[in-house]
Amino acid sequence: MATKRDYYEVLGVSKNASSEEIQKAYRALAKKYHPDLNHAPDAADKFKEVTEAYEVLKDPDKRAKYDQFGQAAFDNNGANGFSSGFNGFNASGFDDINDIFSQFFGGGSRSSRRANVPRKGRDIIYTANLSFEEAVKGTSIDITTSYTGSCPDCHGNGAKNGTDFTTCPTCQGRGRVRTRSRTIFGIMENETTCPDCGGTGKKIVNKCPKCHGSGKVKKEETISVNIPHGVDTGNVIRLAGKGAEGENGGPNGDLIINIVVAPSKIFTRKEADIYATVSVSFIDALLGAKVPVDTLDGQADLDIPSCTQPNTILKMRGKGITLPNGKIGDEYVKVDIRFPDSLTSEQKKLVEQIGELQDKRFSEKFSWFRNKKKN
Ligand SMILES: [Zn+2]
Ligand SMILES: [Zn+2]
Repeated sequence: MATKRDYYEVLGVSKNASSEEIQKAYRALAKKYHPDLNHAPDAADKFKEVTEAYEVLKDPDKRAKYDQFGQAAFDNNGANGFSSGFNGFNASGFDDINDIFSQFFGGGSRSSRRANVPRKGRDIIYTANLSFEEAVKGTSIDITTSYTGSCPDCHGNGAKNGTDFTTCPTCQGRGRVRTRSRTIFGIMENETTCPDCGGTGKKIVNKCPKCHGSGKVKKEETISVNIPHGVDTGNVIRLAGKGAEGENGGPNGDLIINIVVAPSKIFTRKEADIYATVSVSFIDALLGAKVPVDTLDGQADLDIPSCTQPNTILKMRGKGITLPNGKIGDEYVKVDIRFPDSLTSEQKKLVEQIGELQDKRFSEKFSWFRNKKKN
């Protein structure tokens, strides 16, 4: 037979791992590779490999033999003849697997769980494109989800009226069939899903006309979703149970809404704060004025103090966005100062007078400074 991977390596644990560590590693890997959950072509082989490794390492006796003799301890030709006491890994291996399933899916009889494992429905992902205003104020949107679900006419069994079927002759209604195979462990009995009925234990006599016997139909559902005020691009809203229908009694998937907000023509946004620009005349900037500025609630008056410098940023407290968590931001307004394109001779004269007054003030200050230095 082909060389086997080291059992410790298979489970990804160290040689001196505790039995708890071994069990934990096995449970994680068994769940990952269980053929009912993982449909990769090599999943079944991986599952067998980890189960076989676990079967040996969980038993202190077998583990000691494995540590001493390695794989030879389990070879039919090996001196220890160990395989005779080895009842195959299926029986107890599946107990562990069923524990894992009951942890995740709850309830259900063991056999039905094996044949038709309850599965959580698919998550449905939706992108909500909102305008800046919708994101700021909150809005309500209708989302239509579509998925394949259980046929309502036959309750998913595919038979006309849900009742027109007989017991499967291949498995006598068990849904599982036994196969025997010769392996290195001796003759092993294996149970697999009945190929005739797919594990349902039933054979349809007349097919349900709605789903043509598949038991599944395409379903559409329109949900009205309230988007809270203050959301931003990158926010995600998850509505539990609003995704695709679960299978075999499993829970529904979730509806996941990714928020994308269009930029505003007026404001830029940083979390709860918003940024805008107001244009004022140089006269208003020099003398001070009340000017109307854009806010989220329409226009509001902003006080421009006298002698405001270009690009000064003025804060309007509490005029930002109220986030979903209740935090309220501020609005920051940058002052853009407009100068005239040209001056009349009269205006020019007045500005020159201002200039002379400025020069006088400056030289007075300067002489005061000079005198002070001298003394
Ligand atoms: Zn149907
Ligand atoms: Zn069958």
